[in-house]
Amino acid sequence: MGFAFSDYSDVVMPGRCDVLLTNATVLTMDEQWTIHRNSGVAIRGDAIEAVGPPALTLEAAESIDCGGRVIMPGLVNAHTHAAMTLLRGLADDLRLDVWLMGYMMPVEREFVSADFVRLGTSLACAEMIRSGVTCFADMYYFEEAVAQATADAGMRALCGQTVLRFPAPDAASYEDALARTRDFVSRWRSHPLIVPSPAPHAPYTCTPEILRACAELAAEFDVPLHTHLSETLLEVEQSRRLNGMPVIPWAKKQGLFGAKVLAAHCVHVDEGEIRALKNAGAGIAHNPTSNLKLAAGVAPVAKMLELGVNVGIGTDGAASNNDLDMFEETRLAALLAKGTSGDPTTLPARQALTMATRLGAAALHIDRLTGSLQPGKRADLIVVDVSALHNVPSFHRDPNSVYAHIVYAAKSTDVSDVMCNGRWLMRDRRLLTLNEAELRREAQECARRIDAFLGSREVSVLQKLVAVGGAIEQESFEVQVKARIPSAEQVQRVIDSDELTVIRSSRYRQHDTYWSFDDLEQGRLRYRQDEFLDRSGQVTGERSRLTLTGRTREEDRFGSVLLSRSRYLAPAAHSQRFYREYFRPAGERVVEKERLRWLVAYRGVEFYVHLDRLVSPPTPGYFVEVKSRTWSRRDARDKAAVISELLALFGAKPDDTISDGYVELTAKSQ
Ligand SMILES: [Zn+2]
Repeated sequence: MGFAFSDYSDVVMPGRCDVLLTNATVLTMDEQWTIHRNSGVAIRGDAIEAVGPPALTLEAAESIDCGGRVIMPGLVNAHTHAAMTLLRGLADDLRLDVWLMGYMMPVEREFVSADFVRLGTSLACAEMIRSGVTCFADMYYFEEAVAQATADAGMRALCGQTVLRFPAPDAASYEDALARTRDFVSRWRSHPLIVPSPAPHAPYTCTPEILRACAELAAEFDVPLHTHLSETLLEVEQSRRLNGMPVIPWAKKQGLFGAKVLAAHCVHVDEGEIRALKNAGAGIAHNPTSNLKLAAGVAPVAKMLELGVNVGIGTDGAASNNDLDMFEETRLAALLAKGTSGDPTTLPARQALTMATRLGAAALHIDRLTGSLQPGKRADLIVVDVSALHNVPSFHRDPNSVYAHIVYAAKSTDVSDVMCNGRWLMRDRRLLTLNEAELRREAQECARRIDAFLGSREVSVLQKLVAVGGAIEQESFEVQVKARIPSAEQVQRVIDSDELTVIRSSRYRQHDTYWSFDDLEQGRLRYRQDEFLDRSGQVTGERSRLTLTGRTREEDRFGSVLLSRSRYLAPAAHSQRFYREYFRPAGERVVEKERLRWLVAYRGVEFYVHLDRLVSPPTPGYFVEVKSRTWSRRDARDKAAVISELLALFGAKPDDTISDGYVELTAKSQ
């Protein structure tokens, strides 16, 4: 695919250009930070022909007087998920895991399609063009739709096709995701605006094979690789625990840095890791708003810059920011570096603006194309009107004051004109490639459908539980009885006797958290953590499970035996805190007990026998629980009779009332 202007290049004579911008302050953002006052920029085809005084000597097909405004390179948004504009404001003020796995991922599973991505990306492009962005690094699903919408909007982008170890909206497996990525990269790699790239989401959501395969793919096609690294302390601690080292050295060991890497975040990295990133030639995307909003921390940006790493600035997705305003982001990057270092000379305005332009392009590994106003680079530029009151007045004593104006005073709404690849995308604040009214209407319609989806999910604990994943077990029933007993000896004696056969036994400590809801029909949710103990009481392993128990009705009793209904049983994939914050229960009760558990056969039927001692709340005596899975009311009645017999053998007093904090159940004999 040739560049847009190549067809004309042989008929344009030297000394001529297509567009000449005059009467402007030109911030080239080149290595010397050259500023040309009362000067201009000449554009020929898709490229910058000349900058400063040489530009003014050229004969131009069209000459535009900029009226003293500032011309500077288009801003580079170094990390975003453009299509997530459609999820803006969906769920805020939540912890990262609840936000991501409780809301973003379930909604993405349900709604993200090529059409969704096209619409969301177009909305993002409109917003970014308005705020002076001409180039961005994206990572999402259906990346081909992102690329197409971006190219249609006339913007430049590094488009990263996501690869995850679990099923994604656009891939049933990681093998599918890798195949999709290969196909995407091979078909888009010579596009004039789009640089395709593999995007393994993050080490903790990938496997070593995925990281290696993505790095090899990127190297094979000589394209960058886009990923998230060391975003949270939790991620780093987990890597230390599972891999014996932090995220960066582990990623390096998997061969990730065999590719030209763009790493988003790098919040929790030490100096050695920054050096490793530098030596690998990796670029970093600093996302100050997202990191603050999700309380991930603050990246050591000043140290990264000092060590010579190419650090760009990104907005991250609109769902965690919540806008794509690079002016705001650049200002925040500068202020945050000062505030956290206690040194106001840290990250001065000129350096911050360099991050938002040339360094950002370098972090994306496309600085040969964009990021500064230099002859030969693509014509990606913006015109900023510095006449608004909040920019007045201006001083000329210090040449750096113009950078301070742009970073500390100017707003994205001061951007009046945007050109990308030699094509105007906005003139006098009017978008030329996108229809704002249509985008507004379609985005609102999409929000209405997502609202309805989440609304229907919120009505039931079960629906909410299903939404965050895990295996659904069929509704199951069991007959059970619990009774208080004064001593454990009688139970142990029966267990050891010939009256029943012990099939297997185990011993563990059980931490149960019971959550109740205002609507009792929702049932009760139990988060159970078992610590397995050996004979000496040492912990040998643990597991966590989540059970949603339905309401027990009076008619579900057979004498002293209760028929209970378990609607859902799943391995707890998330932490106890996650579920608490996600379900927001009305009440919580915690029970801790030591349990001896036997699977026994008695009269040809298998039962579980539990001998419990309550540790918390501290309760004297022991509790015995006998239960068995059942399939029919008749079977339940038969087993209930046998359970009553067993209970008598164990010496449980039939009238004992159990209100031990974890069961609101009265065991009564008929
Ligand atoms: Zn991100």
